[in-house]
Amino acid sequence: MLTIETVLDKVLAYNATANFDIIKKAYIFSREAHCSQRRIEGSPYIRHPLAVADTLADMKLDSATIAAGLLHDTVEDTGISANDIKALFGQEIAFLVDAVTKLSKVEFKTKEEAQAENFRKMLLAMSKDVRVILIKFADRLHNMRTLEHLAPEKQRRIAQETLDIYAPLANRLGIGWLRIEFEDLSFRVLMPDLYAELVEKVAKRREENEAYINEIIQLFYDRFGKAGIPAKIKGRVKHYYSIYQKMIRQKVPFEQVHDVIGIRIITDTLAHCYDILGIIHSLWPLVPGRFKDFISLPKSNMYQSLHTTVMGPSGERVEFQIRTKEMDAIAEEGIAAHWRYKEKDRTDKKNEQQVKWLRDLVKEISDAKEFLEAVKGEVVPDTVYVFTPGGDIKELPLDSTPVDFAYSIHSAVGDKCVGAKVNGRMVPLRYKLASGDVVEIVTSPNQTPSKDWLKFVVTQRAKSKIRQWTRAEERAKGIELGTRLLEDELRRHGLPISATLKSEKMEEVVKAYTLQSLEDLFVQIGYGKISAHQIVNRFMPERGHEEAQQAARPAKPARESKSSVITITGIDNVLYRLGKCCMPVPGDKVIGFITRGKGVTIHRADCRNVERMAEPNSRHIDVDWMEDAEGTSTTRIYIEALDKPGMLANLSAFISSENVNISSVKANSTHDKRAFIELALEVKNRSQLLSIMNKIRQMDGVLAVRR
Ligand code: MN
Repeated sequence: MLTIETVLDKVLAYNATANFDIIKKAYIFSREAHCSQRRIEGSPYIRHPLAVADTLADMKLDSATIAAGLLHDTVEDTGISANDIKALFGQEIAFLVDAVTKLSKVEFKTKEEAQAENFRKMLLAMSKDVRVILIKFADRLHNMRTLEHLAPEKQRRIAQETLDIYAPLANRLGIGWLRIEFEDLSFRVLMPDLYAELVEKVAKRREENEAYINEIIQLFYDRFGKAGIPAKIKGRVKHYYSIYQKMIRQKVPFEQVHDVIGIRIITDTLAHCYDILGIIHSLWPLVPGRFKDFISLPKSNMYQSLHTTVMGPSGERVEFQIRTKEMDAIAEEGIAAHWRYKEKDRTDKKNEQQVKWLRDLVKEISDAKEFLEAVKGEVVPDTVYVFTPGGDIKELPLDSTPVDFAYSIHSAVGDKCVGAKVNGRMVPLRYKLASGDVVEIVTSPNQTPSKDWLKFVVTQRAKSKIRQWTRAEERAKGIELGTRLLEDELRRHGLPISATLKSEKMEEVVKAYTLQSLEDLFVQIGYGKISAHQIVNRFMPERGHEEAQQAARPAKPARESKSSVITITGIDNVLYRLGKCCMPVPGDKVIGFITRGKGVTIHRADCRNVERMAEPNSRHIDVDWMEDAEGTSTTRIYIEALDKPGMLANLSAFISSENVNISSVKANSTHDKRAFIELALEVKNRSQLLSIMNKIRQMDGVLAVRR
């Protein structure tokens, strides 16, 4: 079992001048603080910070980092305050513990909290002091190694986050061993069957190739010995997750992944690296396109090595990695290597260089393509980062909805989207996406874009695609309605429909309105800009000259289009009027009637006149109130009340207290002391009207209220 002595011995082995007292003190303090806590599997909690400290010692870090690793959960989980840590352990350790605590708080919110946001916070913490991230890595590593004690759902969530954030970050920081362990531990949780299969197949391949690989290694020891090149040669198996990625990338089964087993050669000098490369290439033909010189062109995480693949002695591909000991240390330890043996001398030149190197690296990470989207969250706070089910990041403006997301994928996806699943749950289309959401669009071949979407989409692309579609749709409906109105009017005047529409005169009429085509004329009639009556007049020989002159000017719409509150089968901006008999308000059930020359009149469905209005040539049409209609509509209510002094004053005082305007009042009284009051009110909608009518009914002296 791991003890503090093991950790201290490990530290001693690489740094005899370490501050062992502070590490011991941190251990005792942490053990006391956590004494009442247990890990989920039942062991004493101190095992966790101890394991974290052990990993930090493996990374050969300084005493402050190891002490902070022991203390990293004390502020989060126990009654200890950040100030207590500062008083007992000093500023530096307190800073590290505090930063890790803050980072943990972020992590615990992951369900809502964005992964990209998490990542951004990690970067920020790291840019202050990279040791914060190294402690966080060690913490996550131990949690990943002991994941099996958690509920399966939680295991998957943590594994996914490790794969999405921790592994790439470890890679960026050049800590190769950590990246590999993060990836394989996550892989095992996320795809257990595939993982088990690969473990088995890799072991088999290794066994099959062992003799062959040993043969090559022996051959090289001989060659290098003769050439006087010191070298360490070892066979190496790619880690499972990288094999899996290769299978995915190349769309091949495991059997066709070639370089599962490779050979790594570590030598002393840079010159010897190239000598070794020459020897390999002189022995066997290289596979074209596989030679990479990361020595002259290091990766952004400082990784340096020569890579080459050759066709080996029996025609098998063999991959070689050639590097110096120093390069190998960087490849394994990355940025952690720069914190080795360092005890509180951050002022010397060498350290300044390292701090600069670190800053550059952080900047470099910010610039790196694969993290660009995530990091931009810092620069452009008005952005959310969401994921496709396949794991691609989409950057969208703040308040974007699933519809914006769908159009960002493809306009065909946007046009057909009926719903969305966010993090596996169905959400409404107007749902506001949050960073980290995994968004899956549900489409239907029968769906068409809706004008209503314009009320909530925020991206320019979605807006213009929806408008493009609805404009075409509106035009089609305008043509349909306009054709009906004009044909009706022609029929009423006994004019031949087809002949009139095709006549030269009609062409002239179209030109007179500066329109391009007959279709445009239908649209204008359908939208109520021009009345069918005006057009037909021009074909009536006995009708006056002056009307024809007038007709060249478009008729004024009955209402300003902006205050339009009615839509007709999906079109707005239609010429319409509200029936004077029933004075409908938004929310009332309504019917539209196409009236000769007047466009559409809207009546309440229960209007007494509706039946009478249904004359042979008028047609009714489906209409509806616009959802977000603003402004007020005028309607009438009738009140029967006791005729007593102050009745009218009370009524009007009450109605204005409800913020409703009274536009006219008529009152009569009868000889039996009853009053009949007719009020014209400007109300927003039906529910406001009904609520006011109800309240009036309850007023003292009121006998009846009706519309
Ligand atoms: Mn922890």
